[in-house]
Amino acid sequence: MEVHSHYPLKQFNTFGFDVHAGLFAAVGTTDELLAVLSDKRYCTLPLLILGGGSNSVFCDDFDGLVVHPQMTGIEKQAEDAEFVYLRVGAGVVWDDFVSYAVQRNWGGAENLSLIPGRVGATPVQNIGAYGVEAKSIIHQAECILIDTGERRVFSNAECAFGYRDSVFKRAWKNKTVVTHVVFRLRKEPVLQTHYGHVADELKNYPELSLQTMRQAIMAIRRRKLPDPAETGNAGSFFKNPVVPNETAMRIAAADPHLATYPVDGSSVKLPAGRLIELAGWKGRRVGNVGVHPQQALVLVHYGGATGHDIIALATAIQQSVYDKFGVHLEREVNVILNPPNN
Ligand SMILES: Cc1cc2nc3c(=O)[nH]c(=O)nc-3n(C[C@H](O)[C@H](O)[C@H](O)COP(=O)(O)OP(=O)(O)OC[C@H]3O[C@@H](n4cnc5c(N)ncnc54)[C@H](O)[C@@H]3O)c2cc1C
Repeated sequence: MEVHSHYPLKQFNTFGFDVHAGLFAAVGTTDELLAVLSDKRYCTLPLLILGGGSNSVFCDDFDGLVVHPQMTGIEKQAEDAEFVYLRVGAGVVWDDFVSYAVQRNWGGAENLSLIPGRVGATPVQNIGAYGVEAKSIIHQAECILIDTGERRVFSNAECAFGYRDSVFKRAWKNKTVVTHVVFRLRKEPVLQTHYGHVADELKNYPELSLQTMRQAIMAIRRRKLPDPAETGNAGSFFKNPVVPNETAMRIAAADPHLATYPVDGSSVKLPAGRLIELAGWKGRRVGNVGVHPQQALVLVHYGGATGHDIIALATAIQQSVYDKFGVHLEREVNVILNPPNN
C-alpha cells in the first residue's frame, strides 16, 4: 500500500472540485487500514475517510490524511428460510451490489438503485430513495475504531439510524471506519411500489419483478437527476425539513401543490425542493454554480468554481427559504473545510 502526497481528489468528489489531499492512502484490506492508522508518521494528522465523494463538498485542499477504503467482495455469510445475509466490502460500488442482488432475485435494495457511492458509506448516511432506507436491509456494520484499532460490529439497532442519519454521524463521528456491511435480503421479495412516480413508471413494463422495479427506478432517476459525470453535483443538497403541522398548513394554504408526508401526529415532512422552487431559486445560476433547472434540491457545479461558491449559494438559499417560510433547511452533504473540520 502506497501513501501518496499532494494527491488529486477531482475523481473522488462528484462535484468535481479540483482539490488535493495532503496524503492519500487507498486501503484494500483491514490489515492495510490498521497499518496506516497506527503509523506514527500519520496518526496525529487530521483524518478523512472518503468513499466515492458523492455526498462531500471540498472547500479547499485537505491538509491531512485521506483514507479511501477499497475492501472488495460480496460473500453469502448465512441464510435461513426467509433471508440471505451478504457480507460486502466497504469499497464495493453501491449500485454494483444492488445489481448483484437483483440478478439473484434477492429483495430489499432495488429501490436504492443507481445511488452513487460505496457500500462503506451506506450505514453512515442511511441512504434512502423511493420509500426505502438502507436501515431496512443493513444487518450489521463491521468497523475499525480509529483510536484503538479495535474491531467492533455495530448491530442494526446500535447504528441508531434516522433520516440520512446514524450513530456514525453522531457519537461515533470520525471515530470509526466501516470495513464491511452485512445486508439481510429477502428470498421472497416484497416490492415497494407506492412512492412517487414508481407505480406510473412500472406501467411501461410488461411485468412486475425485481428486475423491472430496478429498471423503473433507474429510468426515473436518469430523467430527474443530473449525471455527475456531466454536471458536478452531490444529489440532494438539503434534507427535507420536518415541521409542525401548523407550519405545513400555513405553507400549503399558499401552495396547493405542496406535498406533505406525515411523520407523527404533530409534524410532517415537507419537500425541500418545492420550498426552494417557491423561493425562486430553481434553475438560477450564480457564476459557475447554480440550482438544477429540473430538480431544485440539487446544487450544481458548471466548472471552474470552488466548494466555497457552493456553500455561499447554499447559505443564500437557506436564508431566503427561512425568510419566506420560517423553515430552516439542514444540509444533507458533508462539508470539508481547511483547516479540516473533523
Ligand atoms: C446524483 C446523485 C444522486 C444521489 N441520490 C441519492 C439518493 O437518492 N439517496 C441518498 O440517500 N443519497 C443520494 N446521493 C448521495 C450519496 O450518493 C450517498 O450519500 C452515498 O452513500 C455517499 O457514498 P460515498 O461513498 O460517495 O460517500 P462519501 O461522500 O465519500 O462520504 C460520505 C460520508 O461518509 C463517510 N464515509 C464514507 N465511507 C466511509 C467508511 N467506509 N467508513 C466510515 N465513514 C465513511 C465520509 O467520511 C463522509 O462523512 C446522491 C448523490 C448524487 C451525486
